[in-house]
Amino acid sequence: MSQPFVVVGGDAAGLSAASKCKREDPEREVIVYEKSEWISYAHCGMPYYVKGEVDSLGDLLSLSPREVDERGIDLHRNHEVLSVDPEEQHVRVHGPDGEFEQSYGDLLIATGARALVAPIEGTDLADVFTMHHMHSTAQLRAFLTPPDEADESAFETDYVDVDVTEYLDREPPTTAAIVGGGYVGVEMAEAFRSRGLETHLYQRSDRPVPPFGDAVGQRVSETLEEAGVECHFGTAVNSLEGNGRVDRVETDDGSQAVDLVLVGIGIRPNTQLVEDTGIEFGDSGAIRIDEYGRTTVESVYAAGDCAEKTHTVTGDPAWVPLGLTANRAGRAIGQTVAGDPEPVGEIAGTAVLKAFELECGRTGITDFDAAREAGFDPVAETITAGSRSGYYPGNAETTVTLVADRETGQLLGGTIAGEDRAAIRINTLATALESDMTVSEVERLDLAYAPPFSPVWDPLLVAAKVLR
Ligand code: FAD
Repeated sequence: MSQPFVVVGGDAAGLSAASKCKREDPEREVIVYEKSEWISYAHCGMPYYVKGEVDSLGDLLSLSPREVDERGIDLHRNHEVLSVDPEEQHVRVHGPDGEFEQSYGDLLIATGARALVAPIEGTDLADVFTMHHMHSTAQLRAFLTPPDEADESAFETDYVDVDVTEYLDREPPTTAAIVGGGYVGVEMAEAFRSRGLETHLYQRSDRPVPPFGDAVGQRVSETLEEAGVECHFGTAVNSLEGNGRVDRVETDDGSQAVDLVLVGIGIRPNTQLVEDTGIEFGDSGAIRIDEYGRTTVESVYAAGDCAEKTHTVTGDPAWVPLGLTANRAGRAIGQTVAGDPEPVGEIAGTAVLKAFELECGRTGITDFDAAREAGFDPVAETITAGSRSGYYPGNAETTVTLVADRETGQLLGGTIAGEDRAAIRINTLATALESDMTVSEVERLDLAYAPPFSPVWDPLLVAAKVLR
């Protein structure tokens, strides 16, 4: 009987791996350690839960502990893996009954990422939130809920009791600050404004959502301002101040009184657990893996937000922490561990974002410096075209940027923004990148046309025609 497959982390990557391995090899013992009470929860839905668009905290949960158990997986919540000994092939675990060792035959590190708060002073004050944990997400929702709208079912889940009474009993906030204009900051601006809060968004650079490029950034900033968000671009937050609870944001431009602060300045791979194990890390700080998710240490795999992947366009390692990436890599590793090797797949960095009514998408390499570093000579064009036939109701201006290599015409990446189903159009470009298409080949794609859905020349085709 082989030693167990031990998984560290009970969310997207970890449970995908455990489930797949158990399905393919029911005889294999599969053990999952999760340090929190929560498993299989949707980070991605948290801003919409805070907004109130998702009714209940329980709606963010996918697999329950009972369902994991029914899959034959030995799940241990509230168990933190403290260290890994690759020589002896065991992990040291801290659980409610103390510490113990667990040996493994194969080990998966699926420890995700952690929210950055440093180097801003005052992030330890009360009423400073990050959007990474179920409890604080529930507290934030409770804080925003007016007493006459309080509904206990919004905080109920099948297996964790969440006490938010303290926040429900308080006077709801009227002014919020968001530190960071990345996708979490923008999604939370929508949540705060929809709750009627005066909302200040601070972003160190001149545009929000830098990975989406200048053209999308410009449209997002216009959208934020139209929605009444007070945008402070080019403004770094020096500190958060308050006596126990945050009540002020300090910048070089002055001081802003606030009732709460949401910090969304990025994440880092959560890799401390394996720092002294001989496992190698990439330049990104995430764990280096091969095409099957194997780390540089025998029998130890890594997947999800803690690991790198190979970029489809450059062929180089890249760190792009996203949901599908984690689920797909975990699933592939589960199959590999079960004896049927499956590559973890590459990434193009395809991402979509909703900023109020504006939909945005990005894929591939759109930053010129990154393109040059990868050996390309980038060239780009930005166009704005209608999303439907001009005469058809709902037609909306759609902004597309395509980036290509000047010499070969190879498509390197693209971005899109518009209010009429713009985001999902990015999948066409992601598919083109996967097929190493040139811009001319993109222009020749036989994309669908009918007035309610698209003009004769889809905005992507218009952009390709201009760039070719
Ligand atoms: P995680 O989901 O972080 O899970 C890691 C788990 O490991 C955690 O439960 C943690 O408690 C546990 N753990 C850590 N250390 C230990 C230890 N030592 N012992 C035991 N357990 C441990 N992605 C998208 O593609 N689209 C989106 O729209 C999107 N929106 C997002 C919105 C927000 C607010 C956030 C925060 C993320 C969003 N993401 C989105 C990213 C997506 O949620 C992540 O890429 C995905 O959750 C990564 O899964 P993972 O399993 O690698 O890590």
